[in-house]
Amino acid sequence: MSKEEGGSAVKSPGAEPTLGTDPFEDTLRRLREAFHSGCTRPAAFRAEQLQALGRFLQENKQLLHDALAQDLHKSAFDSDISELIICQNEINLALKNLQAWMKDTPASTNLFTKLDSAFVRKEPFGLVLIIAPWNLPMNLSLVPLVGALAAGNCVVLKPSEISRGTEKVLAEVLPRYLDQSCFAVVLGGPEETGQLLKHKFDYIFFTGSPRVGKIVMTAAAKHLTPVTLELGGKNPCYVDDDCDAQIVANRVAWFRYFNAGQTCVAPDYLLCSPEMQERLLPALQSAITRFYGDDPQSSPNLGRIINQKQFQRLRALLGCGRVAIGGQSDECDRYIAPTVLVDVQETEPVMQEEIFGPILPIVNVQGMDEAIEFINRREKPLALYAFSNSSQVVNQMLERTSSGSFGGNDGFIYMTLPSLPLGGVGHSGMGRYHGKFTFDTFSHHRACLLCPAGLEELNNIRYPPYSHSMQELVRWALGSHSCTLL
Ligand code: NAD
Repeated sequence: MSKEEGGSAVKSPGAEPTLGTDPFEDTLRRLREAFHSGCTRPAAFRAEQLQALGRFLQENKQLLHDALAQDLHKSAFDSDISELIICQNEINLALKNLQAWMKDTPASTNLFTKLDSAFVRKEPFGLVLIIAPWNLPMNLSLVPLVGALAAGNCVVLKPSEISRGTEKVLAEVLPRYLDQSCFAVVLGGPEETGQLLKHKFDYIFFTGSPRVGKIVMTAAAKHLTPVTLELGGKNPCYVDDDCDAQIVANRVAWFRYFNAGQTCVAPDYLLCSPEMQERLLPALQSAITRFYGDDPQSSPNLGRIINQKQFQRLRALLGCGRVAIGGQSDECDRYIAPTVLVDVQETEPVMQEEIFGPILPIVNVQGMDEAIEFINRREKPLALYAFSNSSQVVNQMLERTSSGSFGGNDGFIYMTLPSLPLGGVGHSGMGRYHGKFTFDTFSHHRACLLCPAGLEELNNIRYPPYSHSMQELVRWALGSHSCTLL
């Protein structure tokens, strides 16, 4: 296995030495035993773990900045706003609301259950697995972890082997903060993750590509393990003719080129008329120069491509259509300039695969209807964006398409709101998280009805043989309460 593809499976510090051929067995047994001991259930334990996670972020800020700079050339500011502050906010929110989230939710009763207590209990699934990608390696490891811990689970975290700097910090430093009988980091690439997935987990939370999502779901199906799949795809961005080109260009350039375009919710391509394209090109050039200067390669605010494999893939995409802006690349630096492509064909690779880099193709359509038809012919995206001065156009785009999330006249700034769920639909994934949604994702919602042990005379009406008058009474009672017996 090459360095680029990742190393061998390593368990977090504190794990028992491995005997036998399966490197994960002992760790998983230890975590499962801890879960069955009930130690993760009390709110106080969960809060302790969340506070410890917060301390991990606070006390290792420099280490985390360095790791993210090493992996993705992220500036400290970019690391803070896209990774560390988001994680800390999720921790704070979970700590503030833990008691309320854990509380049983009372459920309404009917005539037959009037004396009973009906409620929904949020109970932990048990042993859960979180598999993370490399593009926001802290955020996409720790935000799910916050919800998994808050919900009282034992957790195995498998960070990406590609973002090696952050993987190292997560494996070597994070476990020192958390209770190691309940939490472990395991390392490895496709081969080791495949081996890990042979084990039974009670929940799997996967973030990554649709291709690997299918592998994860297939493995989970063998154990009937529920999954959340946070996947990617091609996110369309429609720009209506009535827009101010410079405003659109500023917003689009910021969220397309952030993290060198390696963001799952970034706009993958623009849809606009040829006339709008003519206005957008100088505006995009102006935004790129304003953000990254005349020589973007020397800008501290522009990220780098994660590795050579991704770099080669992206460089090949530069050959699609015609380069209108940018197009330069430097292999030694894994640098690709913020690029705009025009005259691209739908059949070209740049319009077939998720770009996941600083390249923005423009596809020409004549108006909103054609844009909607183009979008609906393809897989449902993770995010969809529409720019227009007309709220009618924005609403039509929302109404007549489907996507995991939708942005009207802006980009992924909605990701900063834990009150909004992040998740795909169809090919872009299933399930959702952020804020309370993460807690709910990692909780089994158990239906509970507690009845009095006595008072049997009240139950006698439901037992056969059913007299005519009893049948009438039961029909009336059920009918008048709009409910069914079964
Ligand atoms: P990936 O699917 O290649 O890898 C994700 C994880 O799966 C990694 O931990 C990796 O080690 C593991 N993995 C890879 N191959 C495997 C295999 N054969 N068997 C088992 N495990 C395997 O994704 P990536 O390249 O790390 O990340 C990029 C993708 O993730 C893009 O498609 C992007 O859109 C998507 N993504 C989605 C979101 C979201 O929130 N929906 C967020 C970030 C990234």
